[in-house]
Amino acid sequence: MRLGWYSRVAHLKLYRADMHIHTCLSPCGDWGMSPKAITRKSCQMGLDIIAICDHNTAENAGAVIRAGQKHGITVLPGMEICSKEEVHVLAIFETYDRALNMQAFVYDHLPGENSADLWGEQIVVDENDEVIAENSNLLIGATTLSLYELVDKINNFNGLCIASHIDRPAFGIISNLGFIPDDLQFCGLEVSWRMSLNEAAASISGIGRFPCITSSDAHYIEDVGKVWTGFMLEAPTFAEIRMAFEGRSGRRIVRKEIILKEVQ
Ligand SMILES: [Zn+2]
Ligand SMILES: [Zn+2]
Repeated sequence: MRLGWYSRVAHLKLYRADMHIHTCLSPCGDWGMSPKAITRKSCQMGLDIIAICDHNTAENAGAVIRAGQKHGITVLPGMEICSKEEVHVLAIFETYDRALNMQAFVYDHLPGENSADLWGEQIVVDENDEVIAENSNLLIGATTLSLYELVDKINNFNGLCIASHIDRPAFGIISNLGFIPDDLQFCGLEVSWRMSLNEAAASISGIGRFPCITSSDAHYIEDVGKVWTGFMLEAPTFAEIRMAFEGRSGRRIVRKEIILKEVQ
């Protein structure tokens, strides 16, 4: 596949990214979602970049980063945070320390304790898939943070702030608020694997003003990388991805439909 054609700037390359993957720490995540399994599967699927976004926590992201270093894949630490309106938002950071700062803020606003019987186990692991601990927070729950507070905080921590699966009937901003307020500072929107970006652009009003990505939202290993977003970048780094969201210096998001069409 000759990817250079897609670049308006000669030194840019196409990188495949799945920016929304859960681990065994999410109560709804399968036990098989371990650091080694996720990074191995990501490589098999030809992904260059992944982001780990467990529900309201980043405790397993460090282990996946270290596992990813062995496979030469870029792993970004993130979280999928639930606002008090029950809207899911992806918060993706450049460094694990920043993700942990965000996590501390989220934990301060996350009431309740998990019941493994009701919601599922929440397993903290290391990069060798060894179990370290079980998280007792109610990770599946909503925070007490309003959507505005949440988005502001993610931006204050220099995170990428992306509204999750806007096409879904549950936990999405469109389903829960009915629209995307103009003054919410998202850097982009995520459309789930259930709908192509072209279909979303045609059927969901108001999304045209945002960059859109599509991600697997994988909770099971077989789903990792089943959809992905193309990024035209100089290197697979957080800073370059932010430039693509902002459309700066030739960096851009490339719709999968366009990539597939052009290589046929
Ligand atoms: Zn979600
Ligand atoms: Zn998710």
